[in-house]
Amino acid sequence: MLERSIQYLKGVGSARAALFHKLKIETIGDLLHHFPRGYEDRSRTVEIRDLQEGENACILATVSTPVNTHRSSGGRMLSRFVISDDTGSVSVTFFNAKYLSVREGETYRFYGKPERMGRKFFLTNPVIERPDANLKTGRILPVYGLTEGLTNAMVLRVMEHALPYIGLIPETIPADVLAAQKLMGVQEAYLEIHNPQTELTLYAARRRLAFEELFDLSLGLSLVKSSRGEAGEPLPMPDMQPFYNALPFTLTGAQRRAIDEALSDMTAPEGIAMRRMVQGDVGSGKTMVAAALAYAAATSGAQSAMMAPTEILAQQHYAGLSALLAPLGVRVGLLTAGRPLAERRETMRRLSVGEIDFVIGTHALLSEGVQFDRLRLVVTDEQHRFGVRQRARLREKADVPPHMLVMSATPIPRTLAMVLYGDMDLSVIDELPPGRLPIDTRAPAEESRDAVYGFMRKQLEKGRQAYVVCPVIEESEREELKSVETFAEELQNRYFDGYLVALLHGQMHAREKDAVMEAFAAGEIQVLVSTTVIEVGVNVPNANMMVIENAERFGLSQLHQLRGRVGRSDKKSYCVLLTQNTSQTTQDRLAVMCRTNDGFEIAREDLRLRGPGEFFGERQSGVPGLRVAELGLDMKLMADAHAAAQALLEQDPMLSREEHAALRKKIQRLFHRDRQA
Ligand code: ADP
Ligand code: MG
Repeated sequence: MLERSIQYLKGVGSARAALFHKLKIETIGDLLHHFPRGYEDRSRTVEIRDLQEGENACILATVSTPVNTHRSSGGRMLSRFVISDDTGSVSVTFFNAKYLSVREGETYRFYGKPERMGRKFFLTNPVIERPDANLKTGRILPVYGLTEGLTNAMVLRVMEHALPYIGLIPETIPADVLAAQKLMGVQEAYLEIHNPQTELTLYAARRRLAFEELFDLSLGLSLVKSSRGEAGEPLPMPDMQPFYNALPFTLTGAQRRAIDEALSDMTAPEGIAMRRMVQGDVGSGKTMVAAALAYAAATSGAQSAMMAPTEILAQQHYAGLSALLAPLGVRVGLLTAGRPLAERRETMRRLSVGEIDFVIGTHALLSEGVQFDRLRLVVTDEQHRFGVRQRARLREKADVPPHMLVMSATPIPRTLAMVLYGDMDLSVIDELPPGRLPIDTRAPAEESRDAVYGFMRKQLEKGRQAYVVCPVIEESEREELKSVETFAEELQNRYFDGYLVALLHGQMHAREKDAVMEAFAAGEIQVLVSTTVIEVGVNVPNANMMVIENAERFGLSQLHQLRGRVGRSDKKSYCVLLTQNTSQTTQDRLAVMCRTNDGFEIAREDLRLRGPGEFFGERQSGVPGLRVAELGLDMKLMADAHAAAQALLEQDPMLSREEHAALRKKIQRLFHRDRQA
């Protein structure tokens, strides 16, 4: 019944159903799972004499004058009347209220924000309802996520018809966990979240639903991930000296530590496959850890694969790492969808017979035809860009469980890491290569644009290079692309005569992108105007300035990633955040960027300002979106949910017991949808 289309509900025809579909609501179950994104407390009814200016309130009052409607000088319809209770009266004004149907002498509930003129209060366009209705007033009102054409009142009304179906929702949290955590039952929680009785019960409902999300998340991830302690193949201890000698710099202590930790996993005689995450801020040199391990694997004839989230990044890793490793006898290959078919075929052939030791690629590595001879090490770069299942798919290409290394620059709070990567060991690179200066970051007023680009020109005169980043919104990509093209031309003509400005964007062919990136890396292009395709990992150390246009459109963590493209040498670097948005929130967010270069601090702020849903982005993380749980704030609940989930898996590792059937089904459904398009 919960799987039934919402069209079964009263008040939902095909037109309205189409609107709900836009919110990804197809079934009655989906609708019930559409939790309010906030609440408005309209439960407080006050007497007129207790009204406070500017404080929303409900008033139960009688219309005490006729409704006087006339046209204002501006041509607007104005309706006026007075309402009274035993303690006073308030005048009410409506603008353009065509369907106003109040009658003198009748009593209604009015909800609005009282304003004051002299000693008299008045209300403008208040919400009106008959006292027995209780849909829009006299309650804690849920505020739902909407789409154009769908009002909150419509959702409320449809939801009313859906509430009886809550009786069909099964309880999936085991009874002992419910009791131990003092959690509200599932049906009560759903009722309460859509129709809160009091602040206190609403809090209890949210707590229960948040716990459930985290509990399911922890269970699901544990089931998707191969269990810890899976048998792999230990590699012989390699001689790393030739690798270290070949490097143009000395590794930092933190890099060495990460490499040693990983090597000791991979060579441990017990032969347990490595599961390790390397977390290090942008520019901390994570790539070298991957290179070291691939070198180590190759010395014993084992193959390695490294998956990067974008063509550009894969291409760049390939260029850098083959230059480093080929002289050491490691055969490095590149496999991305953008390479010509004949080349891809040849790469695949060589991979399958073991003629490539280390392949670097994109999602293309996951495709059917890609086979390995002896895959023993799998590395995912910028791992937050991949779904959990994708990592699993690469792993499945090995004949024995390979060693796994995931690298991420997105620092996440420890408790969250425990839930998301609970089965991994962690190496933290908490040190930048020597001589790195903090990036001088500013968010000047829009008027300084000329000065900003003038300063950029000065940098070019010193032989440096620069990035200009322009956000592009997906839906209107064509038009926006055009405007970015025009913008690049303008920059060229206005400021950068004698230098070369080039454009890089996601719609370009892989080859064009490569060509532009190569020319930029070689210094032939001095200013790279780019959409966000350069966000992850791109490394051109000579570039020391970045201007980010419309900076308000980016999340803080994304700004940090972008900014990480500069500050990659011992030259002082600059980042300028431009915006036309002068709102306090934007200014506050940009101020965080100017204040700190510390990725951890920025991630914490980001999580706090945006909430976890957006922070992770469902599609990117491969983790079902969390609707209730506020991960950043709810560490205790998260730890409890994680512990409870792990305890349950200890008793029933595959959730195969009869009493866990509903839970198992739900987890499967949550994690089954392959979330990466
Ligand atoms: P990220 O951690 O962001 O992936 P990269 O691996 O791209 O960082 O490294 C950033 C830059 O620092 C690269 O140019 C790399 O060659 C350089 N680098 C890495 N390790 C060191 C080091 N120990 N000393 C000096 N430069 C280094
Ligand atoms: Mg990187």
